Amino acid sequence: MYEQAVIDNLDFARNGRVMRGEARLADFVRLQSALLSSQGVLNYTLSGKAGEKGEPLLICSIDGKLILQCQRCLEALEFPLHIESRLRLVQGATQFDDLGDGDEEVDSIPANTEMDVLALVEDEILLNLPMAPLHSPELCQGKGVERLANEKGNNPFGVLAALKVK
Ligand SMILES: [Zn+2]
Repeated sequence: MYEQAVIDNLDFARNGRVMRGEARLADFVRLQSALLSSQGVLNYTLSGKAGEKGEPLLICSIDGKLILQCQRCLEALEFPLHIESRLRLVQGATQFDDLGDGDEEVDSIPANTEMDVLALVEDEILLNLPMAPLHSPELCQGKGVERLANEKGNNPFGVLAALKVK
């Protein structure tokens, strides 16, 4: 069930193929530093299709939840993941090329005859992680820092700056 999945992504898109799977959080090496717990699995679905102009697309859907660490109280923060990314495949590009095309709705990735599906899933999760996960104020245990925030004019960045100086 957890064997490595590698696809020819252009062929996958052109043939409208669909792949569904489960991924263990523990297998996402780059994600670990953001996680308070690596227990659990995510469900993903990768679908190939043609865009409006016939361009090859991958639709990457990911559902599950992550346990992150609240940056205010340092306690566990449950973060639901519901990602659906549209990815345009670009031939003759590498992952190091800037494929920005000004289209906010669609990201571009290189066409690849040996694309690692789980690496793509991990990329998409990393792109959708909050920079500084925080509980909502009424749920957060970080009252001491909260008080500091109020004294500093309620600017969370001001607090971070103050913490860094110490
Ligand atoms: Zn908190």
